[in-house]
Amino acid sequence: MKIINNGLGGNKTGGYDRIDQWDDTVTGKLTDHYSSVLELLGEDGEREGLKDTPERVAKAMQFLTQGYGTDPTEVIKSAMFQEDYQEMVLVKDIELYSMCEHHMLPFIGKAHVAYIPDGHITGLSKIARVVEAYARRLQVQERLTVQIRDCIHDTLKPMGVAVVIEALHLCMVMRGVQKQASVTTTSAFTGAFLRSDKTREEFIHLIGAKLH
Ligand SMILES: [Zn+2]
Repeated sequence: MKIINNGLGGNKTGGYDRIDQWDDTVTGKLTDHYSSVLELLGEDGEREGLKDTPERVAKAMQFLTQGYGTDPTEVIKSAMFQEDYQEMVLVKDIELYSMCEHHMLPFIGKAHVAYIPDGHITGLSKIARVVEAYARRLQVQERLTVQIRDCIHDTLKPMGVAVVIEALHLCMVMRGVQKQASVTTTSAFTGAFLRSDKTREEFIHLIGAKLH
């Protein structure tokens, strides 16, 4: 058994490269659009505090959707090793920042990912990067959960994969659909985690999540 917290070695940005580069053409077009958005919302785009906002938002949105430019399968393949280890590998409490595709508002939380190797393992930080690559897109939590599971399953071909995501959706909280800060939990399993109650329960016990 191997349990790693967040897989990023305690350094929040250490597990992946933060992309602070923007496509100038895209930035220019987005900036124009966000200027219109401000106007349509009744704001004065010329006032001091908002002068650079459209460009700032244009860059922020490119950062928040940078996952489109990453192939998660390649992330795993870049650090895949042959290994006889056949116990559960669990990376828990991976910080998750994504945006719901229905409202383009953030949902934030934690991902817990486990797999049981069958001949191949990957670098632990790569698991966190796979989560990152899928999260930095417009998403729904259900699809995000399944995409992470399938990517690891199809690439490492392990005996099983388990993914649990717990997240708070600002589109629910801020719009008053749900007043209290309720957390949505999604899960997806393959192989041994599906077949064996004991394996699945061990995983759920280890991550301490409440599954409904
Ligand atoms: Zn939403």
